[in-house]
Amino acid sequence: MRFADLAEAYERLEATPKRLEMRAILVELIRPLRPPELPRVLYLSQGMLRPEYEGVELGVADSLARRAVAAATGAEEAAVARRTKETGDLGSTTGELLGQVRRLEEKEPLTVASVYAELTRVAEAKGEGSQETKVRILTDLLVRAAPLEGKYLVRFVLGTLRVGVREMTILDALAVAFGDGSKATRTRIEAAFNLSSDLGLVAGVLVEHGVDGLASVGLEVGRPIRPMLAEREKNLAAVLERMGGRCALEYKYDGLRVQAHIPRHGPVRLFSRRLEEISAQFPELVTELPEAVRDAPAIVEGECVPVDLDTGDIQPFQEVSRRRGRKHDLAKAQEEIPVCLFAFDVLLAGGEPVYERPFPERRARLERLVRPTERVKLAVQRVVSDEESATRFFEEAIAAGGEGVMAKSLEPGSAYRAGARGYWWIKYKREYTVGLSDSIDGAVVGAFQGRGRRAGRYGAFLLAVYDPGRDRFESFCKVGSGFDDAALAEMPRRLAKFATEERPASVDTELTPDRWMRPGLVLEVRGAELTLSPIHRAALGRVRAGAGLALRFPRFTGRVRDDKSATEATTSAELLKMYRSQVRQETRSEADGEAGAP
Ligand code: AMP
Repeated sequence: MRFADLAEAYERLEATPKRLEMRAILVELIRPLRPPELPRVLYLSQGMLRPEYEGVELGVADSLARRAVAAATGAEEAAVARRTKETGDLGSTTGELLGQVRRLEEKEPLTVASVYAELTRVAEAKGEGSQETKVRILTDLLVRAAPLEGKYLVRFVLGTLRVGVREMTILDALAVAFGDGSKATRTRIEAAFNLSSDLGLVAGVLVEHGVDGLASVGLEVGRPIRPMLAEREKNLAAVLERMGGRCALEYKYDGLRVQAHIPRHGPVRLFSRRLEEISAQFPELVTELPEAVRDAPAIVEGECVPVDLDTGDIQPFQEVSRRRGRKHDLAKAQEEIPVCLFAFDVLLAGGEPVYERPFPERRARLERLVRPTERVKLAVQRVVSDEESATRFFEEAIAAGGEGVMAKSLEPGSAYRAGARGYWWIKYKREYTVGLSDSIDGAVVGAFQGRGRRAGRYGAFLLAVYDPGRDRFESFCKVGSGFDDAALAEMPRRLAKFATEERPASVDTELTPDRWMRPGLVLEVRGAELTLSPIHRAALGRVRAGAGLALRFPRFTGRVRDDKSATEATTSAELLKMYRSQVRQETRSEADGEAGAP
């Protein structure tokens, strides 16, 4: 196929916003094509050389493309830049400039095959001298290009090919060009795409083996599956109703979705929700996954969240996002911001595809497959069939650092639906977080043995507020964050005189620390917000029966309140007031949101 034909098709595609017209243009374009040309045209039309997950990049910056355009057209680079300011697009400028060049001799026309091969060389040029190589290849291509070809070549290399063909439109076109165009055919093509994330591959199989041949497109380790997505509901009662009265609830971890591909031999590969490879960002997961996953080859999905390895506590998501895209200083990042993967689904286990099995079977399989390690764990799950247990589980999830819950259908039809959003998974989270500006003074009523670097000493402390009416110390958090080594080192000395074998009668909590403490030492902490909790007992039952108040993401400020005795700690009533003022703020901002929503 001549590249000119492709450029012309792009011109027509760009001119129409109508999906049906686009489909017709695409059908006409691809119908005569066969592999390997067909996949190439499909990749090119989406601005890529290879399926997206391979992450092939041309690495051509504006300035570099401008140099090539100048060299190919004989224009001054500054003039190219000036004109581009006016047109707003280097591609159009290139078209114009090429139109002014007198072509002395008839050049051999560009073909899709030759353009594709040259662009691949551009992408492959790496390291020293690669910039020059890229400019040279581009210049050579542009010298041979007609104006329209030049326009789209330049847009392609800059990643600004605006022909607007979405994956869904291409799937439509494939169904018409190589099938009977029916909905059933379209569905089967899409299913193959969802499993392989590779339109070129799907098109190739379709042309060579027909619609029935698509059944052979399955999972492959190293090739990401398009993720299953969740619907949302407004409250837990609605969630339960949707699920037919019974479902599995899981913590909804707030982190990065990770699809882990564990081959029998060779390195683990990790993909993001957008199917980008992110293995390089989480080397510790790459090394630990083969240890945790017993039966490779396997494909496991989970959420990657920052944790405090010393306490095992989940940290706020912002921590892990700092690691995204961070290529340098990885060793440092690993140490500063350790992550943990909470596995929640399995698609392939021991080489056997299990994604079509109902969810309860997949979960059982996942539990057999994963042997939890320090950094690889199972998502916490509970099957519920009434609103009260659901609410309790939700509060537990929030208190543990989750952002809500994921409800999962247990029905026979609960297969993993790659690339689809549906009510088989329903998310329910609180949409707001109100910052807690006040600090809280908590009395230490217990201590927990440290882990990791803190092994052999206390790593976290159970804090309580005081209720003068009942003369009780009611727990509201377990805090391990915010202590530097020095602060931690002096805690045993500070606490020694309060340590006791039994739970002091004045202490009210559902947690059992490794060491009980008589209330005496007061620590100042801050946190993200106050939430309801089934395990903490502060202001128990005052907001909701059976629930106490808990501080989310607690952090020691570094201030030991030596000036305060335990009974001078923050009171339960004060904590309740802080909680209520949060609730008021949140109602107001919700109302504001509605009124001011665009
Ligand atoms: P959202 O991004 O708000 O649409 O919520 C869906 C996302 O929640 C998924 O893509 C996952 O990244 C994440 N997630 C966290 N915990 C779970 C879980 N237990 N099961 C499924 N998805 C989860």
